[in-house]
Amino acid sequence: MKRKIVIILTILICSLSIVSLAWADAQHLFTGGYPASDIQDLRYVLSGGDSSYQQNIMKAGANQWNSISSEVVLSNNSSGAKMSIYKSTTSTPGLFGEAYCYYDGGDGWERDLVGNQIWGVSDIYGYDNQMTASNLTNAQKKAVFTHEVGHALSLKHISSPLTGVMRQGLEKALSPTDTDEGHLTLKWGY
Ligand SMILES: [Zn+2]
Repeated sequence: MKRKIVIILTILICSLSIVSLAWADAQHLFTGGYPASDIQDLRYVLSGGDSSYQQNIMKAGANQWNSISSEVVLSNNSSGAKMSIYKSTTSTPGLFGEAYCYYDGGDGWERDLVGNQIWGVSDIYGYDNQMTASNLTNAQKKAVFTHEVGHALSLKHISSPLTGVMRQGLEKALSPTDTDEGHLTLKWGY
């Protein structure tokens, strides 16, 4: 009986460690992204919404990626900004946000639709009309901005059984989880 319990415990511990190894997986990262030197001091501007919305939802959403890795620092600063965050609207039902990342196409900025280029600037959109239509709380709206900024930090979507802010739709966590943090540090370092 005792041996049986030991075997069961061993299997349990082994399977748990497999799960924890799966937290950070390169398949959940874009190969492209900003240069690491930009990520160390990524400045953004805010557009749309009143000052309270900008402060508590847009800015707070972006800044949820701070204090995870010393290599990833975001700040609201128009001087040298390489990211624009917009409170916007869309006619597409259920679409809460999007991230457009651009690379130098030689003839001007081009949107990277694959996620394998070196980015120079990005536009982050939060579609407040659709978020409101779906009765999102302010905390959920903030998480939408965190999610979209996460894409600009080269993070892809994750799906069940992983939990995180990089899940899509209403399944997303309200702030970065261990899984999200694992992906961020896998891409950019600690
Ligand atoms: Zn997404």
